[in-house]
Amino acid sequence: MSIEIVSAKELCFRYNSTEVLSGVSFSIKKGDYLAIVGPNGSGKTTLIKIILGFLEPTAGGVYLFGCAPSKFGNWEKIGYLPQKLASLNPHFPATVREVVALGLLSRKGFPKRIGLHDQEAIDYALSLMDIAHIKDEFIGELSGGQQQRVLIAKALVGDPELLILDEPTTALDPEGRDRFFSTLQKLNSEKKLTIIIITHDIGTIGRYASRLLYLDKRVVFYGGFDDFCISKEMTDYFGEFSQHIICHRHDHGHA
Ligand code: ADP
Repeated sequence: MSIEIVSAKELCFRYNSTEVLSGVSFSIKKGDYLAIVGPNGSGKTTLIKIILGFLEPTAGGVYLFGCAPSKFGNWEKIGYLPQKLASLNPHFPATVREVVALGLLSRKGFPKRIGLHDQEAIDYALSLMDIAHIKDEFIGELSGGQQQRVLIAKALVGDPELLILDEPTTALDPEGRDRFFSTLQKLNSEKKLTIIIITHDIGTIGRYASRLLYLDKRVVFYGGFDDFCISKEMTDYFGEFSQHIICHRHDHGHA
């Protein structure tokens, strides 16, 4: 039986009097690769914050590995990359390797010591993100794209079961973006890593993700990409032509 990793049931959320999410329900299982898309302000980041327990839903429920986030105790199972690089102080005097190591330290009890196994995990995360060659450089001296890669490596270093990424590719160039999506796909298919990604790369994500949640304060569409192709709601949103470009399932004669 496949395990439910995240599920939301009739989830509602308001900031003061403004309704941001209404009646949101979906669930994902181990090995799913979910893309969350939707216009700016459609509640995507809010949904992630509720899943991670930073915000309490106004109504309805969310479950993380079967637990309410407030009762969840296994945060080492989750790798999270928040939306803004702002979490990174450019004057923070740490090297790339040290920042990636923080992804392990934050989940360790005392003593917070890096052992041999940890060193190997750090090297692996550095190589996954193609940043081994800059491991001794100071984080503040890197380009935005390189900093983003470092933070992705930090999210991956603890070998999480669930990886949550909020717009991880904004600072990457197109080549970096392709490489990043290929790496994610490999982790998803080879290690059955469950992935939730918020992205504006709606023209690309159909090549990689298995499921799509189209949010506009409510769920406009939730399902697989093949169903997306024939979804009337999505045709109304995008028009038939764009819809098929997005889903990519009709490219090059693949039906
Ligand atoms: P998205 O990630 O889809 O762009 P968000 O979840 O960030 O959307 O925001 C959804 C709505 O909630 C937006 O209208 C935004 O302005 C509002 N919002 C986000 N954060 C706050 C906050 N801390 N206080 C009040 N309103 C907020």
